[in-house]
Amino acid sequence: MSLLEELYRETIMIHAQKPHNFGALANPTVESRGHNTSCGDMITIYLQSDGERIADVSFQGQGCAISQSSASMMTDLVKGRSFSEARELIKKFKEMVVEGKEAAPELGDLRALAGVSKLHSRVKCATLAWNALEQALVEAQNK
Ligand code: ZN
Repeated sequence: MSLLEELYRETIMIHAQKPHNFGALANPTVESRGHNTSCGDMITIYLQSDGERIADVSFQGQGCAISQSSASMMTDLVKGRSFSEARELIKKFKEMVVEGKEAAPELGDLRALAGVSKLHSRVKCATLAWNALEQALVEAQNK
């Protein structure tokens, strides 16, 4: 294993063991659930919007290290962003893990999940929180 792969694995484990932004928000604008039946991962995203900006975001869930660390790092990254910025990040993340494109620098620590694109059965684990966020943005916009 290369040093970079080792650092990436460590980043994933740190977020999986002590996830950031974990727990329900008191007054979310919307809640969005995702369930990955192939692995058993569950994620609920809580989003509080301020106009078209993510004022706050958190998640609750259980499942494998990839699904939980992805949610943890995602909430860190999108908190405070506009909806359009968040959508751009969703697109870049999916290009990386679904299409196997080169990781965009703005994904920060989430680049640790780039290797998932080669583990086909785990792609759904990595994208679960992102699909729930995408759904939350749609629902928040329609409110
Ligand atoms: Zn999983």
